[in-house]
Amino acid sequence: MLTAALLAAALTLTCQGDLTQGGVAVCTTAPGAELNVDGVATRADGQGYAVIGFDRDAPASSHIVARDGVQETAIDLPITPRVWDIQRIDGLPQQTVTPTDPAVQARIARDTKAKTAALTSRATGEGFLERWAWPVARGRISGAFGNARVLNGVSGRPHYGVDIADPIGTRVRAPASGVVTFARTGLHYEGGLIFIDHGQGLTSMYLHLSKIAVQEGQQVNAGAYLGDVGATGRATGPHVCWRLKWRGRNLDPSLLVDESLAAAQ
Ligand SMILES: [Zn+2]
Repeated sequence: MLTAALLAAALTLTCQGDLTQGGVAVCTTAPGAELNVDGVATRADGQGYAVIGFDRDAPASSHIVARDGVQETAIDLPITPRVWDIQRIDGLPQQTVTPTDPAVQARIARDTKAKTAALTSRATGEGFLERWAWPVARGRISGAFGNARVLNGVSGRPHYGVDIADPIGTRVRAPASGVVTFARTGLHYEGGLIFIDHGQGLTSMYLHLSKIAVQEGQQVNAGAYLGDVGATGRATGPHVCWRLKWRGRNLDPSLLVDESLAAAQ
């Protein structure tokens, strides 16, 4: 007599997307299957979709294991490396580069705690399956994702966003649907800052905003008005720094953009 396990179809696992440093991919497997992505745990949703991402500094291969409680299957994805430019930025206020003021350090610690809490969000939506638009009418890209940075002459962390220069007051819109998980002003580095969880913790971020038009917990659709471009926090001019994270990995949001979609204004 055949057991249920033998009768069950083999557990499938396929992943498609940008298999490159900073890229996002969507894996398809059994609904509810557990995934292990290079040691990072996630779970497919009720349709069998799991969004994953590859860090700016991801190694040349990603090992992904799916388990449905009975079976296990694994794949290795080749991850294409990228070449990063070096960007020098001078004239930043020194307290925003190497803060020594205890009050500033305390504020940064408070900001970090709040941001870290927001990044534990695991929204149930599937905004990661949508075609993404630019969040602003496309201005000049003033800082590419992944640049190695020299701030006031000192090597700093790489740039984990895409900087889009636009005038103060330019409307910033959601590139895809999701839930607002962070919406606050006055952060030391980021100024006015919004996070959107597009499902399973894939979180896009909008920095240096002059105005915030959404609230934490709010569901937004693609094109929803989020706030206005500004120069708040550590910024040398008006721009929005657009970032994307998944499980602590820093991703390149511009890779998700479908250039045939115009940014709504
Ligand atoms: Zn930036």
